[in-house]
Amino acid sequence: MIYDWSRDKIEKYGSNIAISLGDEHISYEVLEEESNQLAGQLIESGLKPGDRVGLFMEKSPKTVMAMLGISKAGGVYVPLDYKSPAERVVKIIKSSDPAMLFVDDITTHSFQDLIYVAQDLSFIPWVWWSEEPMAYADDTPPLFSYEDIKDQLNIPHQVVRDENTPAHILFTSGSTGDPKGVVITHKNVETFVNWAVQYFNMRAGERTSCHSPFHFDLSTYDMYGAFASGSRLYLVPSEISVNPKKLTEFILNNKLNQWFSVPSALSYLAKFKAIPEGGFPSLKRLIWCGEVFPLPALKYWMENLPNVEFTNLYGPTEATIASSYYTVKEIPNETTQIPIGEPCGGEDLLILNDELQPIRSAGVKGDLYITGDGLSPGYWRDAVKTDAAFIWFKNSAGEQQRIYKTGDLASFDTEGLIYFHGRSDYQIKSRGHRIELGEIEAALGQNEVLREYAVVPVRKNGFEGTAIGCAYVGAAVRNGDLAPDIKKKLMDKIPTYMMPQFWQQYDKLPRNGNGKIDRKKLSEKFET
Ligand code: AMP
Repeated sequence: MIYDWSRDKIEKYGSNIAISLGDEHISYEVLEEESNQLAGQLIESGLKPGDRVGLFMEKSPKTVMAMLGISKAGGVYVPLDYKSPAERVVKIIKSSDPAMLFVDDITTHSFQDLIYVAQDLSFIPWVWWSEEPMAYADDTPPLFSYEDIKDQLNIPHQVVRDENTPAHILFTSGSTGDPKGVVITHKNVETFVNWAVQYFNMRAGERTSCHSPFHFDLSTYDMYGAFASGSRLYLVPSEISVNPKKLTEFILNNKLNQWFSVPSALSYLAKFKAIPEGGFPSLKRLIWCGEVFPLPALKYWMENLPNVEFTNLYGPTEATIASSYYTVKEIPNETTQIPIGEPCGGEDLLILNDELQPIRSAGVKGDLYITGDGLSPGYWRDAVKTDAAFIWFKNSAGEQQRIYKTGDLASFDTEGLIYFHGRSDYQIKSRGHRIELGEIEAALGQNEVLREYAVVPVRKNGFEGTAIGCAYVGAAVRNGDLAPDIKKKLMDKIPTYMMPQFWQQYDKLPRNGNGKIDRKKLSEKFET
């Protein structure tokens, strides 16, 4: 179970620091003790196995502790992005149907906003998970607060011991406008983490980064990879996560041995040539996942850090953290294509044609499917979407295999290494975030000043990944530049990272032969 890794470290490494954030440090001993106490408190408060618990909190050591406590009590935690617009968070909370919500001193104002948007949320029991004095004391009192757990005994609770039970639910962008919850089991996490700790040769006492927010699955590896190996996890404060100078200092001053993030963070550092003279002497491994690492940026990193190992991980949330890997052998040039590589342990990748037949020739593109122990049981309370994406496939040995359709296009080379060739649908990655363009369009659809609109990917070369463009036609013949007004309205519905950066107004949108909006043409217009 995901709480066993840190538990197993007590005997040998109990006094070692497990998690650090600024001046806040928690040892393995304290992490174990307080998460045990929290589990006891949760059980006493009526949490039942399988109950969801929403984490509406800042990225902090106490949030990690809450994850462990909830898991020990048999609960399923749901990390929530308190920086997302209230309307979107409310949708996620309502969908996950939590038995309780954790709130801290950083998120308490945003929590009030949520309740303002959806008053029925005030009926969900909540927990004050902070040492700070509670704000809004006249509201419904919390079920319990952080201080209350001190009365609990330090008992190694483990209510559920079935690794096929859900550990957490991660919500990701949904094409119809509603975020969808990916259910992740203990076994899903164990499959990747056990492989990765061994492959990367992570050692007790190492120092590893946690750059991604907790609602992204890269952080799942950061946390449990650190605990599985007995490393010290350095949480990157969210306010410096895209600040090249501060990130550089963070890696250097904390003497990090391992860095793992989406490429966009690394591209920012490359763009500002932020690697210091002398590099990062402690850094051994630099790992990225989530999108293509633009070659100029990768080249810059590799040239400046000759002693660091660079590994590309690939995989969707639905197959837990990552499913394939490739350690780059030499500094790329402009034409090099970095493969997504080969399957991680416990996983397999298949490239199939439209008839679900395996593609057998090197260089031929097909749809990429994933199978193995990383596969999520499916989308939370959504059998239709689950059945559409997770299907059964008869392999060459005649056995039925459950496979997940990634929506990615791929091919393999003569050595069997797999290459990524973009998407076959309207999902994109922008600044590291997974975005269904349909979610932005659904939010635009609620705007009466628009007659027609299309949200399309805009590919700019160099250091940036994919950007977002919105082409639109106003409802009235002459209503001027509507973009500022549309943006203002969109801000209440979608997170900042989904906001289109490019806007173009049309009299009518271009259409192709079958009458559909010509999205390719629109993308090209933005790109020229
Ligand atoms: P997420 O669920 O946020 O991890 O997004 C999964 C999607 O991100 C995949 O289906 C790919 O489209 C893309 N992706 C993940 N890793 C990589 C990678 N190393 N290279 C290119 N695209 C990637």
